[in-house]
Order: sequence, then C-alpha cells, then structure tokens
Amino acid sequence: MGGTCSKTQVAYDKKVIIVGCSFAGLTLAEQLWDYFDVTLIDKNDYFEYICTTTRSLVKDEHLDSITVSYVTMMRAHSKRAEFQQGTLMEIYPERNQILLQNVQTGEFDYRNYDFLVICTGSSYQQPTKFLEVQSLEERKSRLALEQEAIKRANSILVVGAGPVGVEIIGELVHANNQIQPDLNGIIQKKRLGIVGHGEKVLPNFVPKAQEYAQQFMTKNGVEIYMNTHFDENFNQTHKFEHVIYCQGSSYNTQFMQNSPMRQLSECVNSKGRIFVNDYLQVTNINPLQRPESNLSLIALSQKKTTMQHTEDLDKSQEVQELLRQVVFENIFCIGDVAQTSLNEEKTVYPLKQCANICAQNIITLTDCNDSKKQLKALPPRFDGVYQISLGPEDGFMIINNFVITGKRQSITKESYQNLYMQKYRGDEKAKKQIDIEMKKLEYLLWVCNSSCFQCCPCANTREGRRPNDEKQKMN
Ligand SMILES: Cc1cc2nc3c(=O)[nH]c(=O)nc-3n(C[C@H](O)[C@H](O)[C@H](O)COP(=O)(O)OP(=O)(O)OC[C@H]3O[C@@H](n4cnc5c(N)ncnc54)[C@H](O)[C@@H]3O)c2cc1C
Repeated sequence: MGGTCSKTQVAYDKKVIIVGCSFAGLTLAEQLWDYFDVTLIDKNDYFEYICTTTRSLVKDEHLDSITVSYVTMMRAHSKRAEFQQGTLMEIYPERNQILLQNVQTGEFDYRNYDFLVICTGSSYQQPTKFLEVQSLEERKSRLALEQEAIKRANSILVVGAGPVGVEIIGELVHANNQIQPDLNGIIQKKRLGIVGHGEKVLPNFVPKAQEYAQQFMTKNGVEIYMNTHFDENFNQTHKFEHVIYCQGSSYNTQFMQNSPMRQLSECVNSKGRIFVNDYLQVTNINPLQRPESNLSLIALSQKKTTMQHTEDLDKSQEVQELLRQVVFENIFCIGDVAQTSLNEEKTVYPLKQCANICAQNIITLTDCNDSKKQLKALPPRFDGVYQISLGPEDGFMIINNFVITGKRQSITKESYQNLYMQKYRGDEKAKKQIDIEMKKLEYLLWVCNSSCFQCCPCANTREGRRPNDEKQKMN
C-alpha cells in the first residue's frame, strides 16, 4: 500500500469507521480493509461516479452506467468491509462513539470506533448532487423530472460558470447538435445561456482553459453573461424557460456545525469545511491561519507544557491560542470536506494522496512497535489535475498550468469512468488498469512539471514567454 508498515505490525481488532462512501471514503477503505475492521457508512444506498454525472441530464441510460448499489459493491469485494446505510448525526470524541440515524426507520444507533474518518464531501444545488436524495430510486425519479424539463424547454440557462456549469453547457450543446430537422426542414435548436459572477467562465482555472471553454460556447451560439448576478430580474429580461443551478457547493457537516460540544463545532469554518492539521487529523484551529495547527498531538502537548511553565509568556496571544488548540488524534478528515493548509482545488487527484497519508497515519498510530509515532504530513503542494468534457465530442485536461484540448480528453474522462465503475462492480482487471492509468498520469505530470516543456503550445506559461522571445529576436 505504499507505506512502510507491514500487515504484521497492525492490530486487526481495531475498528475504523469511515463516514461517506464516495471517492475519498472508498479510496481509503481499500487501503485499510486488509488490516483493520473497517465499516463504511453512507446516507445513500448507492455510489455515483459524480465526475461524469452531467451527461445523465441529456442521456437517458447514463445514470445506470455510473451508479452501483453499495450492497452490490461490497459483495463484489468479498465483504472486506461492512457497509451500513445511515446518516451521521453526532460525534462523541470523549467516548469514541458516533450516533447514526437509520435512513429507512429514522431510528438512532450508536457505533464505537478506534479511528473515525470523515469523508462526507459536499452537496450541490439541483440537479447533480442533492443532499436529501438517499436512494437510487429517488435519484432516478428526480433525474427523470429534470430530463423532462430539459426536453420540454426551448431555452435553458445554466447559473454558475464553474466546471459543473460548463460541463452541463457542453452536454446541452451536444444534445442541440443532435436535433434533426422537422418536417419543414427546420432545425429547432434550444437557446442556451450561462451566467456567472466572474469575469470569465471557469474563474478558478488557468486562462487557456477559460479561453477554450469560452470559445467553445461562442462557436455553439451559447449566450454568455459574465460579471452578472442572476436573480428574478435577470430572467424577466432574458426569459429562459428552464434554469439549471450550479452555483458552488455546501459541505455536509451538519453533525459538526450543530454539535453541542463546542470543541467540535469550532472545527468547522463558516462554509462548513472541517479544519485538519497536516496529518489530516481534525483540529479546531484554521490551518490557513495558524501554522501551529500542524503540530502533532505529542509536539503540541510538549509545547503547551513548556509554555505553561514560562511565566513571562503566560499572557501572550500565542500561548492563549495554543492552549485553546485541540487536535482529535483518532478523528481524521479527507476529501472535499477537509480544509487543509494547502487549500487545494477539490478534485479526485489530491484526495487520493490524502487517503494514502491518512491510511499510513492510522497504521502508524496503531503500530505498538512504533513508539516515536512519526506521522506522515501533507506534501508541500498538490498537482492540479482536472478533466472537463464539453459533451462527448470535445473537452480539455488541465495539468497544473498545462491545458490539453480536444475530443481525446472527453474520451479519456469517459474511459476513467468506465474503469472505476468496473472496479467498483468487482472487476480485478479494471483495478490493475486504473493503476496503470495512474502511473501514466504521474508520468504526464512529471513531463508537464519539467521546465523544458513550459514553452510548448499547451503550456499556459507560454503566453508570458512571448515578450522575451520577441526581445531575443530583436537582439
Ligand atoms: C458534476 C461534477 C463533476 C466533477 N468532475 C470532476 C472531474 O472531472 N475530476 C475531478 O477530479 N473531480 C471532479 N469533481 C469533483 C469530485 O467529484 C469531488 O472532488 C469528489 O466527489 C469528492 O469526493 P468525496 O468523497 O470527498 O465527497 P463526495 O463525493 O461529496 O461524497 C460524500 C459522501 O458522503 C455521504 N454523506 C454526506 N453526508 C453524510 C452524513 N451525514 N452521513 C453519512 N454519509 C454522508 C454522501 O452521501 C456521499 O456519498 C466533479 C464534481 C461534480 C459535482
């Protein structure tokens, strides 16, 4: 599993509870279920490959290809972990216990843990990822309503010009391009629009990606309203028949935000993200503001003890802050919901690395032979990897400041989806193939990060080099 600990060093009777059974929870579980008694908990009864879910808005059978029930998934993995459907309601760190609510009966149930990992991710507004949807059946019926509304509408506005909004536009454009002429030979295309707060679409992405997406939309007649706030007045003027909301996300941490235990509710920022130190343990200090939050529990208590005995420092703000700091040693948090000191873009690639670190740290903390407890910390930075499809015919991949464009990117995104779904349905070959694809990606990252490739056409930095090139020519 990439760590330094061997199976024999680990105590098998330790119970690891992972709450949230999507990309983060599953990646972590795979690394731990041969070593620990692992229980996966999710409020939903199914897994959805969310990265390509936007296609399901326009392609009827797509949802079936990107979902699998957890019961089927666990059976396919020879029940190496227990799965329980339930909603995490509260955490009691003092007695290593959580309170779950049964999704069907509404009854409550306590579960004990040795390690708890929170991977409860985020929710979006309709139609991609509703917090309230808990069964695949419900997901399908809600989607059917949305598909129907899209089919009926002559004009559709996407609110939010981030990656989800842009991907939805890509799918709608593709569907538009498939419309056949009517009896009079007229092609009745839908009017499409996108509205966003930023100056450009994809505000958090490199300029080359923004330009590519914007050009795609312009070429396909999409109305683009940037620097614009969407409200009723907007639609009274622009008159779109159907509106799809893709404005950001909220974090699924009601169980922390409403916790009666102050130390826990303090571990969440105003947006609902959970603070973690560099070992991915939950803490009440914002890692973006206080570097001390990255001290391990032992280092922290040593520092606290020293400071408590240093009278002249006693009243300093630093001491007060430090004394207030809490680190929950056996509660970890990874994935979209975790606020790390790196403040990385929330995508699947960095969360896999976080899952590796978290798994290694749980093993280290369990390892009775390792008294030094050297925990693994976050790297200095994460590579930014993101694939955006613009329907099945176009797309682009962003690797740090590189943007690789074309149909191939959309195909690759779909092939990742197929591999992951095969793997989650129990296909061992797909698992091996994913490992190969990850190696290829690492190689691509290495190539992109090499300085000698920074001037090739897909590098975003190339633009910045041009004036120098001109100067050199003149000299
Ligand atoms: C439309 C779309 C396209 C995307 N495309 C890409 C892409 O191309 N590449 C990429 O890298 N990333 C992409 N992302 C981002 C990526 O999907 C997320 O980074 C990833 O899903 C985060 O995984 P996670 O496990 O942290 O959280 P989530 O996927 O949000 O999963 C959280 C899980 O926790 C469960 N849960 C929540 N609350 C509770 C509770 N109280 N009790 C029990 N269970 C709970 C939920 O049911 C869910 O299963 C995309 C996201 C969207 C929405």
